Amino acid sequence: MFDKILIANRGEIAIRVAKTARAMGVRTVAVYSDADAGAAHVAACDEAVHIGGSAPAESYLRGERIIQAALDTGAQAIHPGYGFLSENPGFVDAVVAAGLVFIGPSADAIRAMGLKDAAKVLMEKAGVPVVPGYHGSNQDAEHLAGAADAIGYPVLIKAVAGGGGKGMRLVEAPARFAEALESARSEAQNAFGNADVLVEKYIEKPRHIEVQVFGDGTHAVHLFERDCSLQRRHQKVIEEAPAPGMTAEVREAMGRAAVRAAEAIGYRGAGTIEFIVDGSRGLRTDGFWFMEMNTRLQVEHPVTEAITGVDLVEWQLRVAAGESLPLRQQDLTITGHAFESRLYAEDVPAGFLPATGTLAYLAFPIECRADSGVRTGDAISPFYDPMIAKIITHGPTRDVALTRMRAALAGTQVAGTVTNLGFLSALCAHQGFTAGDVDTGLIGRDLEQLTATLAAGAADVALAALAVLGLLDRRDWATGFALWSPLERSVLLEHAGEESVVRVICDGPDRRCVLVADGSVEALYQGGRWLLDGQVAPAVRVTGDLVTVFAGAGLAFHVIDPLARAAGATGDGNLIEAPMPGMVKAVFAVAGQTVQAGDRLAVLEAMKMEHALLAARDGVVAEVLVTAGTQVEAGAALVRLEATEEAAG
Ligand code: ADP
Ligand code: ADP
Ligand code: MG
Repeated sequence: MFDKILIANRGEIAIRVAKTARAMGVRTVAVYSDADAGAAHVAACDEAVHIGGSAPAESYLRGERIIQAALDTGAQAIHPGYGFLSENPGFVDAVVAAGLVFIGPSADAIRAMGLKDAAKVLMEKAGVPVVPGYHGSNQDAEHLAGAADAIGYPVLIKAVAGGGGKGMRLVEAPARFAEALESARSEAQNAFGNADVLVEKYIEKPRHIEVQVFGDGTHAVHLFERDCSLQRRHQKVIEEAPAPGMTAEVREAMGRAAVRAAEAIGYRGAGTIEFIVDGSRGLRTDGFWFMEMNTRLQVEHPVTEAITGVDLVEWQLRVAAGESLPLRQQDLTITGHAFESRLYAEDVPAGFLPATGTLAYLAFPIECRADSGVRTGDAISPFYDPMIAKIITHGPTRDVALTRMRAALAGTQVAGTVTNLGFLSALCAHQGFTAGDVDTGLIGRDLEQLTATLAAGAADVALAALAVLGLLDRRDWATGFALWSPLERSVLLEHAGEESVVRVICDGPDRRCVLVADGSVEALYQGGRWLLDGQVAPAVRVTGDLVTVFAGAGLAFHVIDPLARAAGATGDGNLIEAPMPGMVKAVFAVAGQTVQAGDRLAVLEAMKMEHALLAARDGVVAEVLVTAGTQVEAGAALVRLEATEEAAG
């Protein structure tokens, strides 16, 4: 076994790897960027090396710098985590050339699976079923349209170099093909520097079922399947293992196909074979097709760990160190059921916009596994994936594991940034999902129901006011301290854009009457806790001028100081601002240009998506304040329109 490894990643996965390494007596070296100087993953490792600027290209993607850090610290091997350099064969070559071990597959295996078209050809040869379609080299638009006609609509156009759902377009009818091809190509060119695409049959009521494989370079075993059908825009939201409705026969067929795929490329280490499955007629041995292979540890690997009892990172280290596979296929079994929810800092009502902010508070219930890369006080920075944590639950049955997930989400407390916690909870209560009737269209179909936000009730407002005024504390009363004069206090709170004055009348140590906008709430201290109109008050946290009531997904209230506001400036209606942190991809606006409402002024790229910034009204561009390629914070001014009569007046 290695004495010391370097972890070429950040966040939760770096911490996850460090945890197992520590348990195995292997020392760890972290690498970090400027933005991550105080990050949790640095604290989780024995040593740390600064490798550059905050943007990934200046740090976590600098292969040579990372290899140098490994050599300097005496690490013998490099674990790449996922994302960043994990599937970069050039990096693997460089690691090996430096005399170090890459904890993962060979560069050749990564290359073989790197492009979706080549991988499909390879898999066809190995006898693994692939999605019917065209994955040849002729990239002529006419030819591809002809191929789509032959396949039959609907079809899916995919970037051969794709990943993370990018460069993918669903085309429902021939008339839409040319336009979709154009946009898939340009997205692929921008994201991967490769505009080539393939066209395949769009599977109706598709399910995404993937098989975890593990190879030693010659032989491979599989560790069963995961169902990742709950997706939004082709990105996974909640994963589970095993797949609902899976039969022993189909599992055997899928597992065998996955092992065949891994052995066909002499795969070493942890990998995932992703299949698209036709869910319209139940799971069948002739109803699954190879989609792609992910040649790395997957984000959702914990659900497999939960049902198999295997520590996949431990296996990675052992196999990379030259040991044989720890278990044979017949020794692997499934125990119970597991779920993983991906908790993100994102603004769900605003269309799942990635968010940033400082986590004023972060806590998970002890009954779940929470893999997180951030702690209370840490920032979700604009530079990286805004995932806050993965919440994993396990139980003897699917129902129990899902009930535990609902409880885990309800007990998760995040303050300081908006999150998708409410969305995850709504999903876990969704009837179809609860029944195990999943497909990749589930979220899209019921999006409105799933993203409905919980409004703050009178009791929540009352609790926020009591907390911020320090009136949940009863100790001062007991000491007879004259804190209660005046006995009536008030505070101005803002929640979801609405402001309200809340008045609290103290009526002895254990009783308060809280007057909110539309009535009053009685707060009573009884049995060691506060009751609001007879109901047990949820947890609440005050940090600076932010009050978070942990009801539903967490309700944020801001305390408004009327004096401070009177002194502040008002907003400028002429400015087009970045709605979220991101990278300015393109700027179309030119000073002096006349624009109409709806014209594209700029494109902002943030977390796997491009967002067009449109002119909100007709007008003339006064000033362009950014250039393409600039990283901006939320609220950064991008373009200013000339003031109109009304706006100026
Ligand atoms: P998974 O199946 O594990 O979700 P994806 O292909 O969606 O795999 O992406 C794997 C990981 O790579 C993600 O979890 C993310 O951390 C990283 N990743 C993928 N695409 C991007 C991107 N465009 N920007 C930043 N990180 C990305
Ligand atoms: P990426 O590399 O971006 O992860 P994949 O090829 O793995 O791309 O596809 C991502 C998702 O797109 C799948 O999980 C599935 O939801 C959907 N998808 C892919 N191929 C098909 C298909 N042929 N029919 C229907 N849905 C598909
Ligand atoms: Mg995929």
